[in-house]
Amino acid sequence: MDEFDSSNTVDTKTIQALDAAHYLHPFTDPAALAASGARVMVKGDGIWLWDSDGNRILDGMSGLWCVNIGYGRQRMSDAVYQQMQILPFYNSFFNTTNVPAVMLAAKLVELAPANFNRVFFTGSGSEANDTIVRMVRRYWELMAEPERHIIISRTNAYHGSTIAGVSLGGMAGMHAQGGPLVPGIVHIDQPSYLEHGHGMTEDDFGVAAAGWLEERIKTVGPHNVAAFIAEPVQGAGGVIIPPTTYWPEIQRICDKYGILLVADEVICGFGRLGAWFGSERMGISPDLIAFAKGVTSGYIPLGGVLVGDRVADVLTARGGDFNHGFTYSGHPVACAAALENIRIMEEEGLVARVLDDTGPYLNAAFKRLIAHPLVGYADSFGFVAGLNLVRSKGATVHDNEVFDGDVGVGMMCRAHMFEAGIIMRAVGDRMIVAPPLVMTHEEIDEMVKRIALALDNTLAELRSKALLPVAAIA
Ligand SMILES: *Cc1c(COP(=O)(O)O)cnc(C)c1O
Repeated sequence: MDEFDSSNTVDTKTIQALDAAHYLHPFTDPAALAASGARVMVKGDGIWLWDSDGNRILDGMSGLWCVNIGYGRQRMSDAVYQQMQILPFYNSFFNTTNVPAVMLAAKLVELAPANFNRVFFTGSGSEANDTIVRMVRRYWELMAEPERHIIISRTNAYHGSTIAGVSLGGMAGMHAQGGPLVPGIVHIDQPSYLEHGHGMTEDDFGVAAAGWLEERIKTVGPHNVAAFIAEPVQGAGGVIIPPTTYWPEIQRICDKYGILLVADEVICGFGRLGAWFGSERMGISPDLIAFAKGVTSGYIPLGGVLVGDRVADVLTARGGDFNHGFTYSGHPVACAAALENIRIMEEEGLVARVLDDTGPYLNAAFKRLIAHPLVGYADSFGFVAGLNLVRSKGATVHDNEVFDGDVGVGMMCRAHMFEAGIIMRAVGDRMIVAPPLVMTHEEIDEMVKRIALALDNTLAELRSKALLPVAAIA
């Protein structure tokens, strides 16, 4: 399946014109897109994508952090096809249920940490986080502490694009549009050692960064705080990997004030960090877990909330109707896809492989990239990794000279990545990957080879535009 099947070719220009005329893309400037024309993806197999011009591209981002088992899995199509024939849809309202939803709920409980015995299904990660906002506030109502409504989140966090998702998230560019946001949500800084850790060891910085949570709790009044929500490793914000001391301290603070701990595992779940749920690797015990993306490897949309016993017991014992839900909550086809996806992950031992084998292998490869003149910092955790482009290197990572924002070095580098046949995402000056979990050593080597080539080409472009310090031009 290495060759692109030419019978699948589409007329790129026609599709691009229709696309520009009628399709409003997410997170996209329509004018800029119309000017350049969208890249038309037509096929995927394993870790590879093909565009309508026949280019074969290594997908370093698993689609959008989700195609954990890789593209083109016949078993997924079969499972979905079969379920569509049996029962394509039925809802879970009004005392009804369906077999795939029940089986998936039971399976997720089996995979989740011990304090989880209930699942609420949604259609996406954003809906999962919306559900969490309503659920934690409902929980505190039932606990007769309705004043506990404030949810603390983090700057630069991504929790989705619905109004609650945007409000929980800490993306300045999103907050700037379409307000007002959901009230009662406040933010603390992200635990970015590069950004805030100057003059500290990583361990000391981790404790200090967790301390910001306690400070904020005290400012808003502990009796007003409902929950703290965060991604175990911040994804869309740029793969911000916290120091190992951070999460245990966060847990201690949440426990101290009786605050619910919510892990948004939409990216970090389903093997991404080398465990079924990233929380396990952070040594924390959340009360609620949001999931989506990897649960179906993106083959069909599905999300949900794993509800820990602390909340579930209250909701089920004395909650009555929870007036919340979606038409597609527990969609039988999506749940069948998730069950097959999990079966594949289990049979292939993908989670353990990322933890013990390919994750460390990816880490070593990224650490080697630090030798490149443009790479000032590189790190990874499980199957997320990132590197920072710098203008010149100093004695410590905090002494590196960064590029002027106008240079747009991240976008420049991303274009060279595409050119080299590798999809890498740019977040400012940080280049990140989240590869399919099926990646082998050879495929990691191939990916890193392409990354290195694109870095060389970025360096050459910077040089030709005289954007590097004089010493580096020699
Ligand atoms: C993608 C993402 C979401 C939103 O999920 P959608 O399915 O796009 O609504 C929420 N949280 C995190 C951490 C994500 O990465």
